[in-house]
Amino acid sequence: MATPIAGVGLSWPSKSSRRPFSNPSRSSRSSVKMAVSVEEKKKNFSIQKSEEAFDAAKELMPGGVNSPVRAFKSVGGQPIVIDSVKGSHMWDIDGNEYVDYVGSWGPAIIGHADDEVLAALAETMKKGTSFGAPCLLENVLAEMVISAVPSIEMVRFVNSGTEACMGVLRLARAFTRREKIIKFEGCYHGHADPFLVKAGSGVATLGLPDSPGVPRGATYNTLTSPFNDISTVENLFSTHKGEIAGVILEPVVGNSGFIPPKPEFLNALHSITRENGALLIFDEVMTGFRLSYGGAQEYFGMTPDLTTLGKIIGGGLPVGAYGGRREIMEMVAPAGPMYQAGTLSGNPLAMTAGIQTLKRLKEPGTYEYLSKITSELVQGIVDSGKRAGHAICGGYIGGMFGFFFTEGPVYNFGDAKKCDTAKFARFYWGMLEEGVYFAPSQFEAGFTSLAHSADDIQHTIAAAEKVFRKI
Ligand SMILES: *Cc1c(COP(=O)(O)O)cnc(C)c1O
Repeated sequence: MATPIAGVGLSWPSKSSRRPFSNPSRSSRSSVKMAVSVEEKKKNFSIQKSEEAFDAAKELMPGGVNSPVRAFKSVGGQPIVIDSVKGSHMWDIDGNEYVDYVGSWGPAIIGHADDEVLAALAETMKKGTSFGAPCLLENVLAEMVISAVPSIEMVRFVNSGTEACMGVLRLARAFTRREKIIKFEGCYHGHADPFLVKAGSGVATLGLPDSPGVPRGATYNTLTSPFNDISTVENLFSTHKGEIAGVILEPVVGNSGFIPPKPEFLNALHSITRENGALLIFDEVMTGFRLSYGGAQEYFGMTPDLTTLGKIIGGGLPVGAYGGRREIMEMVAPAGPMYQAGTLSGNPLAMTAGIQTLKRLKEPGTYEYLSKITSELVQGIVDSGKRAGHAICGGYIGGMFGFFFTEGPVYNFGDAKKCDTAKFARFYWGMLEEGVYFAPSQFEAGFTSLAHSADDIQHTIAAAEKVFRKI
């Protein structure tokens, strides 16, 4: 396992302690060779078809996209339109090939369009696409999630991370009979009204401090604090004594760039929630099965009261989940009085993709491999950036990483916002032309997968080396 990093200023293992790459996933599925050389690709780099498709899309859908973070607002230009994905690579409709570090924003941790996942989906599909009644696959995924995630004794499946966070908030309020919630600046918990306060990348990237349409009443009970700042949390608890239902956080922030917690921060949150009869809620929609098989809670050895999951547990299909101690979860209908429902929840196809994905992640060596390649990647990028004279810092845990164009260290969203976003935009387009696809914003984490090969990592570092010299 990678050494946990303190802040974003890191110490790296010495070169000699680094072992050669060995990919635990079978070699046949581990990498897709670049179809053309970098030089050839550069000469041919054209995104004309993407531009035409996006122009059409803008007339059909607001902003041309169905989720704002996909637009290239913060790096300029237009998004590229994807035709297909396989392993660690993506192809756009102009035929350009990219090494992908977005991974569908997290789910693709074993690689895109994995053969075994596709085969299992085809088998399930023969029995139908939706039952609206219990199916055995729900038991299978529920058992896998419960045995993997320390805090989860019972789980409820929903269709997205947003839904999971909506459900968990209602549950925390129902269980404690209190209404106030503390969240952190730059943390994203989906787009439900009460969470759209200081909510990170999507909102930050678009420069919307809050969203119109969210009534004041909906966020009246949402209290906010900077991340890694326990004294503000202490003040909130003393000002609102006996009123706070819970504290929700991304245990490692990914929605304002990659920001790990100071170890004492998580410990302090654990104690202060205990002392005040409030619940500690880890939003592990991104970090679950990403930092380690048991998520951030296993990685840091800290058990929250409630946990939300999403992204990876759906293996690329729409799934979310929330879970926790049995006594709390038994408040959820129909076991208890707290209402929450879903026509397509526990969908057999979504359960199948989740089960197959978790099965692969459970194989020995997977997280060691993710840590290994992610460490090499981030170290390579940060080192070559520094050699070219740029202020840059970065970090990673497991298969999640990030880098900022600032000296650092970055402990919260305020620190992150000091980075040079104009430089990031130049870096971004340079990398795209070199066949590397990162998230189109400085305030997003990046993701590796079991399908990323040593070649992919080396190609990326070489590309970064070149682009850093030009920007
Ligand atoms: C992505 C994400 C969500 C929202 O999930 P959706 O499936 O996009 O609704 C919530 N919390 C965190 C931490 C996330 O990263």
